[in-house]
Formats: sequence, C-alpha cells, structure tokens
Amino acid sequence: MQLQGKKIVVVGAGCSGIAVCRYAVNNGAQVVLSDRRSLAEIEAGGNDIRAVAGSVECDFSGHTEEYFTQADLIVISPGVPLSIPALVAAKAAGIPIVGEIELASRLLSCPMMAITGTNGKSTTTELLGAMLRRCGKEVFVGGNLGTPLITCVDEQLDYAVVELSSFQLESVESFCPRYAAMLNISLDHLDRYPDMESYIAAKEAIFAQQSCDDIAIVNGDDAEVMRLAAKAAARKVLFSSSRRLDIGISCVDGIIEWRGFGLSKRFDSRQLQLCGSHNIENVMAALVPPLLEGLDADTLWQAACEFTGLPHRMALVRKLDGVSWYNDSKGTNPGSVLKSVASLGKSGSCPNITLIAGGKDKGGDYRDMCSYLTGRVAQFVLLGEAAQSMRRAWVDLAPVHLVDSVEQAVQLAQKITPAGGSVLLSPGCSSFDMFNSFAHRGEVFTAAVQALPYAETGAGTGAKTDVDTDLAELVG
Ligand code: ADP
Repeated sequence: MQLQGKKIVVVGAGCSGIAVCRYAVNNGAQVVLSDRRSLAEIEAGGNDIRAVAGSVECDFSGHTEEYFTQADLIVISPGVPLSIPALVAAKAAGIPIVGEIELASRLLSCPMMAITGTNGKSTTTELLGAMLRRCGKEVFVGGNLGTPLITCVDEQLDYAVVELSSFQLESVESFCPRYAAMLNISLDHLDRYPDMESYIAAKEAIFAQQSCDDIAIVNGDDAEVMRLAAKAAARKVLFSSSRRLDIGISCVDGIIEWRGFGLSKRFDSRQLQLCGSHNIENVMAALVPPLLEGLDADTLWQAACEFTGLPHRMALVRKLDGVSWYNDSKGTNPGSVLKSVASLGKSGSCPNITLIAGGKDKGGDYRDMCSYLTGRVAQFVLLGEAAQSMRRAWVDLAPVHLVDSVEQAVQLAQKITPAGGSVLLSPGCSSFDMFNSFAHRGEVFTAAVQALPYAETGAGTGAKTDVDTDLAELVG
C-alpha cells in the first residue's frame, strides 16, 4: 500500500492517531490530524502531539468536512464513531475509511497472532510474546495494550502479537491474522454499545477474513465464543479448563495437556507463578500458536513459568497482620471481578474477602454477579459512580459500606478484615470517574496499602470493630 503523495486524514489525536501521523508523514503523505477536542484538551488528556504537530495540518475543536471529503484515505482511531457528520459525508463520497489496525495489517509482512476477548487479552498477549522471544524469535508485542501496530510495520520480524479491543475490531476489513484467539465474552462496554449483540458483532470481526489455512483459538467452555467460532472458516483449536479434549489443549486436575496435530505434551500448571483458573486459560491460549509453529514445548513452558503477570492484575501488594492485599485495578468489568474473586478461594470455603469495588459505571446489571459472590465476599466497600447500583444489587449478600475515596476504602478495609482474609481491589468498572486510568487507580491503592500501619487492635486479630463508628469517622 503506497502512502507517498496521498492526502490522509487521521481522526483522533491519541496514541494510535499520533503513530499513524508519524508513519504517514515519514512515508511521504500529506496529513491532516483531526480531533473534536481543542489542542489544550488533547494535551490535558496526556497526549503529546508536539512531535508531529509541525509536520501535519491540525484540524482541532471539531472536524472540517472539506478535509474529509477531499482525502484519499481516512484513518480513524479506536472508538471514533462512524456517525460523525464529516465521516458520513466522506463515506457518501466514496472515501476509504479504515482503522489503524487495518492500515497496519495491510503494510505488515510478518504473520500476525491476534488476541481478543472481554478479559485476559493483555496477559495472554504479553505471555505469548515472552514465549516467542524465549524461543529466539523477533517479535512485536502491542496493539490495544500499548505500542500501536503501525510502529512495527517496517521492522524485520518473525511475528506480530497484537491485542485487539472491540473498538479496534470495528474498523477492520481485510485484516486476517494467521492465529486469532477469542478468550471469552461477557458483559462489558454497554456504555459504548447499544446492546450486547453489537459488542459481540465487533469482536466477531477477528475471524471474519480467516481461511482454512488460518487458526482460530477458541474457549471451548464459553458458549458465546463457541457460537461465534462456528461461523469462522478457520481451523479451530479449542482450549478448556473443564474437560479433557481429544484435540486441543485442556487442563484437568492441574495438568495442562496438549493433544493432536502430531504432538502430545503435558505441563504441570502448579509450576506457574500466575494464579487463578482464568490465568490457566490464558496460558493454554498462548501456548497454541507457538506449539503449532513447531517451537520447542519445553522452552515455551519455561517462559510460561517465569512469567509473573502484569501490574494491576491480581498483584499481591502486601501481607499485613495476616491479611493479603491484592491490587486488581484492571478488573474493570463484572466478568473479571468474578474470576479474581474465584481465584482467592472456593465458594463455601469462607475465603473472607473484603471486596473494594465501584468506579465509572459501564452499564449492565450487577445482580447477575450475586450467585458467584455469595459465600466468597464477606463485606463490600464501594465507591465511585457505580457504588449505589452495586449496593442495591449486593445489599442482601453481605455488609455493604460506602466510602468516598480509595484511601478511605483501604483504611476501612483494614479495620473490618480479620486475619486470614484478603482485601481485593477489583472495581468492576472503569476508573475515569476519579482517576486518569486503571493504572493510576492501582497506584493510589498500592500507596495507601503500603502506608498502612500495623494494627494496634482489632484488624488482623479477628476481633470485632465497631464498623459503623469507624465508618462515620472515615467518611465524616
Ligand atoms: P484485558 O486486557 O482483556 O483487560 P488483562 O489481562 O489485563 O485483560 O486482565 C484484566 C483482568 O481480567 C484481570 O485482573 C482478571 O481479573 C481478569 N482476567 C484475566 N484473564 C481472564 C480470563 N481468561 N477470563 C476472565 N477474566 C480474566
């Protein structure tokens, strides 16, 4: 695909938009960068556009239709709605409109391994990258989780491992990864999609252009994923943590077993440093591409065992007075909270979890979570915009406390969690009501936990504290 001399409008001055500008300018295109926000708002959002501002034309504080209708190509950033009037006019004028992933995949010469799903994408993507590198491969690892794909298209690579969000998948056309993994589908982003069907339809695009020469990696325990995969033309490789598969990869009684495709291999999941059954699913999904590429299974497993996970995902912050404190700030939807809660203990085994949750509500019904939370969560500490909806949904399950900040939540949790219990920040919501990002929220939580003094009385001893009095002091 030649960009030399082309007029390109890039919509959205975020991370991927800026990367597209840089690539297009370096390849001789005339570029307009368009954003509905003003320059000051863009910079306040943390995007440094100074590096490209001198070499592109800036169309800020709205979208100028003329630029759009006279372009040779429009590249949109994830989440930019196609309903913007300037885009509608451009579409009517027959101007091609693609996303950054579509553009990059047309320019890329190495095979792609793409990962999507509601949860587990970043972990699986990073793990797969680590496994391939351990086998001596030159690999790009990025996409939704960090570096935009467009930044690697001129590099000499063996593979590109790409995490894809539903927003990125909305604007692909010919995108065709050699391997496409769909980890799971559960409720998320109902603030951005009219309904669950639209969210699922966006995810489905990962398989759409694959042929029988390609591989779809499919969660065999997820009915929705199985339904989507049934329509895919690619060869399917299933993973399951509930039943042994004759062909595919499964985990039964802690043993991960790969069977079929001319190879039989067993791995002991207890050697992994990642915890929770959800992470075993991520490991199984990540093993599929390199095993099918014929890479050494023992080296792959070594890389899996060395992998300690990403920050803000079930990270053990501290053990204090017999209480374990976990930062799972990346648990931003109900499905991820349930997996994280489950990884701390079985229902009925009284794992005694204090769950700190809440944040920016993304739509959806928290009552669906009740059956999983019962018997696991001993008390809820709720904050942010979603606190009241969560309280209404969970008030019959266990005591519910409302607080105004993460610091208050941490101080209260220390008072109400007995020794042997766990405090888990897994908000089930995005962070944007109170923070810049999930990472910012996780850092504030971690700092508050690190600052906790050893308990003088009450906390950690199992002794009862007067929660209502404590709460009144804390909330003021
Ligand atoms: P994503 O990139 O899709 O947001 P991450 O790997 O960053 O996923 O994990 C985010 C959170 O999702 C984790 O903290 C954990 O609570 C949950 N999670 C991770 N893997 C899975 C999985 N396979 N199934 C369900 N939940 C998961």
